[in-house]
Amino acid sequence: MSPTGKVAYLSESKSMEINEYQLPTPAQDDVLTEIVQANVCGSELHIWRGEHPHIDEGVLGHEALCRVIETGGEVYDNAGMKLEVDDLVVPAYFATCGECVQCGQGNHQYCQNAYKYWSRGPDEWPHFHGTFGSHYYIHSDQYVYKVPDSVDIAAAAAANCALSQVLFGLNQIEVSLGDTVVIQGAGGLGLNATAVATERGAETIVVDGVRDRLNRAQEFGANHTIDITEYETIEDRVDRVQALTDGQGADAAVEVTGIPATIDEGFRLLGRGGRYLVMGNIIPGKKATIDPGRAVRKSVSVTTTMRYPPWILNEALDFLVKFGDVYPFSELIDAEYCLANVQQALQDSANREVARATLTP
Ligand SMILES: [Zn+2]
Ligand SMILES: [Zn+2]
Repeated sequence: MSPTGKVAYLSESKSMEINEYQLPTPAQDDVLTEIVQANVCGSELHIWRGEHPHIDEGVLGHEALCRVIETGGEVYDNAGMKLEVDDLVVPAYFATCGECVQCGQGNHQYCQNAYKYWSRGPDEWPHFHGTFGSHYYIHSDQYVYKVPDSVDIAAAAAANCALSQVLFGLNQIEVSLGDTVVIQGAGGLGLNATAVATERGAETIVVDGVRDRLNRAQEFGANHTIDITEYETIEDRVDRVQALTDGQGADAAVEVTGIPATIDEGFRLLGRGGRYLVMGNIIPGKKATIDPGRAVRKSVSVTTTMRYPPWILNEALDFLVKFGDVYPFSELIDAEYCLANVQQALQDSANREVARATLTP
């Protein structure tokens, strides 16, 4: 009998089921992998709760570390390394089709077919469309990179989401030596942003309302933290940032809270010519009041990002080779569940009983 594997899929809102299928033979240039570990990301929770604008069913999971078990012919990763059985790899979780208008213009992060595999129904071949499973099927139009031996397994498993996203976002607002950067939110994206901004020579001010998260931010390099239970009003926080920046305001700010109201606050924390990266508010339909005149009078520029050019994933692995030991990336995972308990992992994550859950087959 041919070997089988399992995938977890969303059958209806907040309800995961697991199916078993025969393992597919990879088509030419595709790669069949087994999952080493797959993290429960905030995006998965949005889908699970039925809040995602495009995905409402199908196989879930996108952040993972995978091990190659079969390749469709001779396959190379996107850094030109030949993939062999047992290699550890990380895939970009989205496709870059190379055929749509955006891919044609070199804007791979905007590929119109980005989610053509993720969230397909489990019955559809090759079944293993998401990383919540025992196996994951990587198509030839997904970027994939071999993971260097020195990179910690838990850190590698998150490289294709938060770290890559942050590296690209901070590129977009050109965070560099001498900048003071306010990071609004000390969740996974915020901690990664703090480490990356620090390594680029910036001074960082992290704002959050949970003391444990702010302590963690310090471990990720935060020079200053602002606890909103202590600095309760926006005016208090503006004053604090002014005090920390010699009255200038921040050079750059990064919104990774997912809370619409924080955007107007970001405008106020920035100084003249400030660069603002809005990256945490990913769910359409939520509204906030902003004071555009205040932003215009300071000539604030606003950048938003969704996904990243897939080659940034290789930069994320380089970052982990160089700085993976400097910051406690591996400690960001605080709970491990076996695949059979995927529903519990999502439930506990949604209830914030765990900060970052990971699934193992
Ligand atoms: Zn993610
Ligand atoms: Zn495309």
